[in-house]
Amino acid sequence: MQFSANDRSEYIATLSTTSYDLLVVGGGITGAGIALDASLRGLRVALVEKHDFAWGTSSRSTKLIHGGLRYLKQLEFGIVREVGLERAVVHRNARHLVVSERMLLPIVKGGSLGKFMTSVALWVYDFLADVRKKERRVMLDKPATLAAEPLLMPEKLLGGAMYYEYRTDDARLTIELIKTAMSVENTVCLNYAELTEFTFDEGIVNGAMITDVLTGQPFQISAKAVVNAAGVWVDAVRELANDETLQRKKLHLTKGVHLVFDYQRLPLKQAAYFDTPTGDGRMIFAIPRGNFVYIGTTDTDYFEDKNSPKVTQDDINYLLIAVNTLFPTALLRQADIKGTWAGLRPLIHETGKKASELSRKDEIFYSKNGLITIAGGKLTGYRKMAQRIVDFVSEKLAVEHHYQPQACQTERFVLCGAKFKDAEAINQFKVRRIGEAKQAGVSPAQIVTWVNRYGTNTDIIIERVFEIYTAIGDPEQRCLEAEMWYVIHYEMVVRLADFMIRRTDMLYFSESETLEKYPKYAEIMGKLLNWDESRILREKAAMKRELALYL
Ligand code: FAD
Repeated sequence: MQFSANDRSEYIATLSTTSYDLLVVGGGITGAGIALDASLRGLRVALVEKHDFAWGTSSRSTKLIHGGLRYLKQLEFGIVREVGLERAVVHRNARHLVVSERMLLPIVKGGSLGKFMTSVALWVYDFLADVRKKERRVMLDKPATLAAEPLLMPEKLLGGAMYYEYRTDDARLTIELIKTAMSVENTVCLNYAELTEFTFDEGIVNGAMITDVLTGQPFQISAKAVVNAAGVWVDAVRELANDETLQRKKLHLTKGVHLVFDYQRLPLKQAAYFDTPTGDGRMIFAIPRGNFVYIGTTDTDYFEDKNSPKVTQDDINYLLIAVNTLFPTALLRQADIKGTWAGLRPLIHETGKKASELSRKDEIFYSKNGLITIAGGKLTGYRKMAQRIVDFVSEKLAVEHHYQPQACQTERFVLCGAKFKDAEAINQFKVRRIGEAKQAGVSPAQIVTWVNRYGTNTDIIIERVFEIYTAIGDPEQRCLEAEMWYVIHYEMVVRLADFMIRRTDMLYFSESETLEKYPKYAEIMGKLLNWDESRILREKAAMKRELALYL
């Protein structure tokens, strides 16, 4: 179904004239998951996001759908079981986007987990998460560990463990959830739409004033229930509503950063998960991705501007020391860094606990004025969080508005573009499309990238390539225009950064030449969206500012 930037005014007209059952504030993974769950239960749902979908933490994570092995150390068995089980569900519902990733956990002298404890912990992990047989942990002795990863330092190595997690593109998972929700009748999700104040009826929240950030126009949405899923901004939204629950519990933000290197500088044979040498009990991922490998993350208290968390020199030193200690021959230096990103965790404050000790559990706050807030949690557990909050909303609507609660349907609901039976079906789809699109000058590598990004919706892009075949002679330009056209008309892209950062991960994992091409991309997008010269200049300047944050 189309979800087009050209239809924004119609969406706004619908939002301001419909009486909604539920208004969701925040278009990250949490809000997107809630919108889909509620839509499938027959509720009329509106979702507003003040920037682009996934603009907040949901495009800046480690991009893993994982069981959170570290929570075993904190004895949080409930979380490990829930998110561990969810890995398989999230994979099954978006197979092209959530792919299995082999992980090596090296065991070193003086590390936080010895051989025996690692074996037990991973066994418990397999058991709690009901891991399928071929993905269960395998313990390795020292020679086998070194054979699996020759870059490891041999001196302190005792052995290792091989196990599996899942890798994803967090922002794409979010947009596919939004698109899937949008395909359900009576649901409207809008980006660049900021909640600025709440409206009340006799002291009870009954909707909100929203500003269309692109035009500055205000409009009103009325809703029987409002859920605040604004990530690290939930407290700011609670303040707007004078929510008394703020006096009891607030957020505690921590920052995590990632560094990106050329794959050739650290050519790992699989992802690795390892202790930091500082003895702070934290663990770090090194994850190969195409021509790159990224390393993260840190976990430090954060009190600065929530809109632009930055990577500091201390963050860089911490990660470089950790990676160079474990892989000493890599000798990674600051000058090797190709890109960075920093994200903020919306955790719930617990007195006396350090950043890395805080629970990742989600929690619901219910204000006496009716505002419902959900905070905490993880990308991996988004579906269960959504289920809990929509159960809560359903009960409220049942009591106050005679709504007939319906069961959650998301466990087996395949996301937009993800109708693949298994990995083999994805490969066959790629092979067929490579053959078909060859005549339009589309390279096999381009098809693979598109299918990994858009799944079966690649067909719409290929169709567009054929449509513009005679008008655009250069194959590379033709593919770029077709892809941009798709995201504008089917994924509500309204700004250049939406395309380069969140619909594609170009900014994170692209050749530096691609980044040099952003002024040209701004021109093409300007043509597709009828921008005038001054808008094109503004988009180029905005993109330059984004680049300064990431590189
Ligand atoms: P967000 O994604 O921040 O979304 C909230 C949205 O609300 C924002 O887009 C914001 O613009 C919007 N908003 C705010 N105020 C308003 C308003 N007034 N009006 C309208 N919209 C508003 N989890 C995993 O499972 N796996 C991982 O590998 C992983 N790695 C991580 C690594 C790091 C460094 C960090 C920081 C987190 C990681 N997490 C991971 C956790 C996970 O990323 C987060 O829990 C999740 O993304 C939070 O999503 P959210 O939707 O709650 O918040």
